[in-house]
Amino acid sequence: MWRLLTRVCPRVTGSQALAGLRGLSLKTSPELKVCIVGSGPAGFYTAHHLLKYRESAVVDIYEKLPVPFGLVRFGVAPDHPEVKNVINAFTQTAHHDRCSFYGNVNVGKDVSIEELKQAYHAVVLTYGAEANRTLGIPGENLLGVYSAKTFVGWYNGLPENRKLNPELSSETAIILGHGNVALDIARILLSPIDSLRKTDIAAHALEAIAASKVKRILLVGRRGPLQVAFTIKELREMINLPDTCPLLHPSDFEGLKHIVKDLPRPRKRLTELMMKAALEKPSGKEAERRATACKEWGLQFLRSPLEVIPSNNGKRVAGIRLSVNKLEGLGESAKFVQTEDVEDLECGLMLSSIGYKSYPIDPSVPFDQQQGIIPNNLGRVLHAPGLYCSGWVKRGPTGVIVTTMHDGFETAESVLEDARLGALDVSASKGGFQIMEALLKKRGVHPVSFSGWQKIDNVEVANGKKAGKPREKLLDVQEMIEVANQ
Ligand code: FAD
Repeated sequence: MWRLLTRVCPRVTGSQALAGLRGLSLKTSPELKVCIVGSGPAGFYTAHHLLKYRESAVVDIYEKLPVPFGLVRFGVAPDHPEVKNVINAFTQTAHHDRCSFYGNVNVGKDVSIEELKQAYHAVVLTYGAEANRTLGIPGENLLGVYSAKTFVGWYNGLPENRKLNPELSSETAIILGHGNVALDIARILLSPIDSLRKTDIAAHALEAIAASKVKRILLVGRRGPLQVAFTIKELREMINLPDTCPLLHPSDFEGLKHIVKDLPRPRKRLTELMMKAALEKPSGKEAERRATACKEWGLQFLRSPLEVIPSNNGKRVAGIRLSVNKLEGLGESAKFVQTEDVEDLECGLMLSSIGYKSYPIDPSVPFDQQQGIIPNNLGRVLHAPGLYCSGWVKRGPTGVIVTTMHDGFETAESVLEDARLGALDVSASKGGFQIMEALLKKRGVHPVSFSGWQKIDNVEVANGKKAGKPREKLLDVQEMIEVANQ
């Protein structure tokens, strides 16, 4: 797996060559103590690269939760277990004799970045994008309106979202957004319950979805079919979802036939698949499947939300008012412009899947509020020597795990280069975790080690086995800590 992954990154190839040339000097180079904040893909890929290309690098990963892996555990859809296989590679990294994991340490609260900078030569921030982008429209806080982040956290067992108890008693749901997260949510809500039973979906979500009345989902996007952000695999899954019929309007695809042939290949294939579902009359088994489907989903283009319409008592969502948009410009960069036309759609559940957002965790770290990222140059935080960033907090909340891998490698390369060329002072030895341990103890914080996480993992897998699923996640932070300390 790693060999396959590293081959796709050109910077790695360069590093491998460098490492070969410098084999001897690497062994004798002074110790480089690096602290990584966050244990998602960005944290683990950065750690992997540092450990691989500098034999004197020692890496400590600090994580807010007692459990590692970030969005691989709490974001990736439960019915996509193959995506979670990266956990095996991350586990290998965590077992490296120069790598340690300290869970249950909330950086910015339990320890400051300044304290970490004192204890390590370099601090790499990989804490992701944990906030919601809000719609900023009236009614956004009504009952029955949820952000995708909260909803995904709920079905994936994120401790802070476990009590969400979403309202699933209405037949129609609207999801705002045309990205993969929007499709993940639609698929989870419409999937046959027996196929979800075999996944690591949280038990409370399984129970709620089994009783759900939702059978019609409309995914609403601001722009047109040529601008959707989801990818072909996720679209294909939706089109082929058992007992479910895709409802795509032929008129949305009129005029695209002669444009599609000139599109870049991935966009071309994606558009062709949408057009096939919208324009071709199904025959045989597919026609039968669609005719007998009891659930349906569709894509609504060129609409943006103006207002959530309240129910008669003013408490719940009853629908959404949308502006009808037109496009200016061509292709992926085309912009939407609102017209004076509006449209109301009824729904009893609304999910806004318009993106995640990073936020600053420590006032001493520069932060670009506008872009929601830490300003950086190849992962070097601007005007903050010794401080680096990687992953979603570095480039914004877009891209898949492989994109984040490239990103982690790039940042690690910047750290190694700075240590080699003297931009990072590694002449004095640093106390690392020994210093932090004393501080944390004084503050009553008890870190969870990787072997502590493995005890949690064992309990989760054993509990899952009883229910015929890969794992049953623990949902309570205190319970996780107790299991880790057994
Ligand atoms: P994260 O994965 O968010 O990791 C950040 C970590 O930092 C977390 O563990 C968090 O707890 C920790 N942290 C936060 N604050 C602190 C703090 N103050 N102190 C210490 N630790 C902290 N990609 C795919 O390739 N395939 C998919 O199927 C897929 N599905 C996705 C589904 C969803 C719903 C989402 C949102 C994303 C999905 N992605 C998928 C994208 C992928 O998850 C991201 O590219 C990747 O997780 C980003 O990695 P990261 O390390 O930057 O952030």
